[in-house]
Amino acid sequence: MVAAPAAEGSPLRVREVSKSFPNQDNAAARTHAIDRISLDVGASELISFLGPSGCGKSTLLRLITGLDAPDSGELWVGAEPITAPSAERGLVFQDPNLFPWLTVRGNIQAGLVARGVLHEKRGEVDEFMRLVGLESFANAFPHHLSGGMAQRVALARALINHPKVLLLDEPLGALDAFTRMRMQDEVLRLWQARRTTMLLVTHDIDEAIYMSDRIVLMTPRPGRIERILTVELARPRQRNSPEFLRLRGDILELLHFAGAEEKAEGGRRKAED
Ligand code: ADP
Repeated sequence: MVAAPAAEGSPLRVREVSKSFPNQDNAAARTHAIDRISLDVGASELISFLGPSGCGKSTLLRLITGLDAPDSGELWVGAEPITAPSAERGLVFQDPNLFPWLTVRGNIQAGLVARGVLHEKRGEVDEFMRLVGLESFANAFPHHLSGGMAQRVALARALINHPKVLLLDEPLGALDAFTRMRMQDEVLRLWQARRTTMLLVTHDIDEAIYMSDRIVLMTPRPGRIERILTVELARPRQRNSPEFLRLRGDILELLHFAGAEEKAEGGRRKAED
């Protein structure tokens, strides 16, 4: 049986984290992807990162997975510093990246097989297939699945490791608008069932408002936190309620303001040079 849905999530702490990369056009220069980001995420919180392309959202998620190390700063999950990848930090991408030669069941249990724990956890595979509503597709192969179904397999495959933090990098970005809205409800249902701490990268303002406890607005490169907004709306949220639309307007203005401010800042810098 799957463990009772007690809070599986852990708090996450990010302190003064910066990351740069070698610049592809100029060997002497570096691209500063994120700059001194600090953030506390509560256990079982769902938080979104919203910002223009290239503002370092994926870089920050990769640092949290432990796939990359920061240039400076520190990251912790609970009391544990993040120094390497761990099954306790699951990652779901826009591309579900399923193994095409494995069935739905084979894909969901792949991590358990790799860790040599399938025998003792076999019952959980059925539980998680039920959790994402794919029990009647257990023997289907990925090429028979719709985009939404494939993404549900990817979510189950990540959740079966009981991650303390689940990182979602534009997971619904490739889906059509209707499937995307249905999948937002699906992710929320999984979040409420498992109480996993979730970090969601999205370009979609409505998705961020519909899903998140808080929304982190990021500035263009180098990525910094511009503002953190708490979404006070009761769940389930009404996408067309006046409060929802007001918050949407505020965010649009803030993102536009951030862009305008950067231009003004750039202009000021030029004038000072
Ligand atoms: P976002 O997810 O917000 O679109 P990214 O984190 O992917 O932004 O990228 C932030 C910046 O860092 C971009 O300018 C990108 O080109 C650069 N960058 C990210 N990863 C690498 C890498 N491995 N090598 C070189 N530059 C990178």
